[in-house]
Amino acid sequence: MVHCDIEKAMDKLKLKNIRVTPQRFAVLEYLYTYPGHPTVEEIYKALVDKYPNLSVTTVYNNLRVFKKLGLVKELTFGDASRRYDAVTTEHYHVVCSICGIMHDVEFLEPQQIKEYVEQKTNFTIAQYRLELQGICPDCAKEGRQLPTG
Ligand code: ZN
Ligand code: MN
Repeated sequence: MVHCDIEKAMDKLKLKNIRVTPQRFAVLEYLYTYPGHPTVEEIYKALVDKYPNLSVTTVYNNLRVFKKLGLVKELTFGDASRRYDAVTTEHYHVVCSICGIMHDVEFLEPQQIKEYVEQKTNFTIAQYRLELQGICPDCAKEGRQLPTG
């Protein structure tokens, strides 16, 4: 099971003497509970009603702190958009080609694939990413189509 532990994340913040403001906690909690691998804007939109003083910059700065401590992983894409993942161990993703939502997927152990590829190619694999792309249930239900051309 792919999962992440917010208690451990909180311990790490305390250990590094990083003050956990209500906003900072909210951003962390959102990341650790929402399964869709949000962007900065998505986190901001989800929390601004409850925290009217929140800004996109605050969200971004918090993410930077979390990233530095290894509490989140930043996933970058060709189009320069970024999503944030609270599961920092290696795992797979399934990505909607229309709205970009991303979920974790359990599959063959990453280690097995790594060893297989190393044997076949003599490469030393340092890191990798596997994404399966398709259309998410919400987009399918709404009848959204992939942009053409
Ligand atoms: Zn979608
Ligand atoms: Mn993930």
